[in-house]
Amino acid sequence: MKIKNAEFIISAVGPDQYPEDGLPEIALAGRSNVGKSSLINRLIMRKNLARTSSQPGKTQQLNYYRIHTDNELYFVDVPGYGFAKVSKTQRAAWGRMIEAYIQNREPLKLIMQVIDLRHPPSKDDIMMYDWLTHFDLPVCIVATKADKLPRSQWPKHLKQVKTTLGIKPNTPIIMFSSETGMGREELWDIITQTAFP
Ligand code: GDP
Repeated sequence: MKIKNAEFIISAVGPDQYPEDGLPEIALAGRSNVGKSSLINRLIMRKNLARTSSQPGKTQQLNYYRIHTDNELYFVDVPGYGFAKVSKTQRAAWGRMIEAYIQNREPLKLIMQVIDLRHPPSKDDIMMYDWLTHFDLPVCIVATKADKLPRSQWPKHLKQVKTTLGIKPNTPIIMFSSETGMGREELWDIITQTAFP
């Protein structure tokens, strides 16, 4: 996929700040530090547009990036879940914001749930997947950091992810590496097919 332009638009703290141009939105969900920023940067071939390593406290901001390929769309970086360091109040506020966004956001076309291929999905990963599929939105699982495992172990880990999540037949799963670019074209195919059917 050739990227003509990519720019950061806004860290939105509420619906009144979400863009109003109706372009398709592709959201990224995953626990903090799983590699969401690196994934965005690899998809758009920029080193540093999405800020790597999440900032604690910013649990209620949706980061919007406008991406111009043959068409235009937004990547929406959802704050990471499974955070150990935030209060219960912050966690509850996170839940409300994400829930409202995912349930009500008309331009939202696909959620890429990012997990770490090296480890079995956590309780939070499983909860998030159950919750996303419950709303019947298209979900794609991206199992990243594949470069950190020898190729011979990929099938075993892929199977572990599928089994632990209880993956549904219509959920695509992609092995990815932000380091090597593995899975990039395959993921772009899914993104464009869902955003521009
Ligand atoms: P975020 O908090 O989900 O946005 O995670 P980041 O993108 O900041 O990544 C967390 C750490 O994992 C950083 O040190 C990244 O360099 C590293 N990382 C992310 N993706 C990969 C990957 O595919 N391969 C390798 N080897 N490291 C990665």
